[in-house]
Amino acid sequence: MSASQLTATQADLREQYQKLIEAGLALDLTRGKPSPEQLDLSADLLSLPGADVYRDASGTDCRNYGGLTGLPELREIFGELLGVPADNLLAGGNASLEYMHDLVIFGLLHGTPDSATPWAHGPIKFLCPSPGYDRHFSIAESYGIEMIAVPMNPDGPDVAVCAELVAADPQIKGIWCVPTYSNPTGATYSDEVARALVSLPAAAPDFRIFWDNAYAVHTLLEAPPEPIDILGLAADAGHPNRVYLFASTSKITFAGAGVAFFGSSAENLAWYQRHAGVKTIGPDKLNQLRHLRFFGDANGVREHMAKHRALLLPKFALVMEILSDRLGDAKVASWTDPEGGYFVSLDVVDGTARRVIELAKEAGISLTGAGSAFPYKSDPEDRNIRLAPTFPGIEELRSAMDGVATCVLLAAADKLLAEQI
Ligand code: PMP
Repeated sequence: MSASQLTATQADLREQYQKLIEAGLALDLTRGKPSPEQLDLSADLLSLPGADVYRDASGTDCRNYGGLTGLPELREIFGELLGVPADNLLAGGNASLEYMHDLVIFGLLHGTPDSATPWAHGPIKFLCPSPGYDRHFSIAESYGIEMIAVPMNPDGPDVAVCAELVAADPQIKGIWCVPTYSNPTGATYSDEVARALVSLPAAAPDFRIFWDNAYAVHTLLEAPPEPIDILGLAADAGHPNRVYLFASTSKITFAGAGVAFFGSSAENLAWYQRHAGVKTIGPDKLNQLRHLRFFGDANGVREHMAKHRALLLPKFALVMEILSDRLGDAKVASWTDPEGGYFVSLDVVDGTARRVIELAKEAGISLTGAGSAFPYKSDPEDRNIRLAPTFPGIEELRSAMDGVATCVLLAAADKLLAEQI
């Protein structure tokens, strides 16, 4: 565009933005939460396991203490869905993030079964495929673990970069991974990337892959990808203790009142339970029993996820439609078109993401904080915005996305004009 065309476009966008402000919106696209309609899909859980039902198939009285491993039948169901033998999978409390946190802490304070000393005896570092999940990065930051950003490709992290880094530096003890419909890009790791990760020539014998398969079954397609047998691959690669696998029903049943899972080698699980046994006598088995009765089997989970899909598909389709209608021609942004998960990752003109988020905020549209998908909340190009379209109703989502598009265009026009002057 010429300077005069750009000035006219900017004036037009300012007018649109003014109208947006006057609309007095109060919309939230910040966090990946299930909508109330999605939560309603699990309403039966509220009356399960039912009066006088408190034993699992093996006769365990779920009202009483004990059982750090969790209910065997529930571990069977999720073992099948996650590609993990049930013997290698624990069912625990309500949050997989708590497992991740505790594993970092136990590594820091006790050292892993492969550590010569506790991690906290020296500075340690984690690789952070970016953009990535902000809460992973918060755990690392909170405990002083240095974060090293590595590029995220459509098939997973750049393994060549990872290999070079871990081979050279024994202080690198971990990598955060979201292998299916990753947060926020929606990328699903290929088998090749998975194989490369378990085979990385790490200088640290106690290097760990935090394999957070939070969205393993959260597909927008007919069926999710087959789970990668990551524990088996690691064992075949000669690193049986390298992988910590996580999942939960937070976005299957009730976020905050679901069941979390932790999968790993027998040696790691024994080590974990030794330390976890100090902080708890066992998880809430009645909640596990309730989930078991609700799903019945792995197919029960698949059928349930199809209902989520029916509610989520129109929302993701609407986001794609608005982004392409409003931003397609202007070529000032690119975005992911995920096949599952909870997010759309939007890249705007370099140097304008922060401004877009501010403009949206002033217009009553809350977006996830600038840079939050990067270590130390620092997006080197100031270009990435995570959109979470699941929670709002469809009309709210339409208004919010239309408003976001206006803010993206206005910030781009302002920047381009400033550069021309
Ligand atoms: N991992 C990822 C990648 C997530 O996106 C989320 C939720 N936003 C979680 C973990 C949190 O899981 P939980 O509720 O089991 O702690």
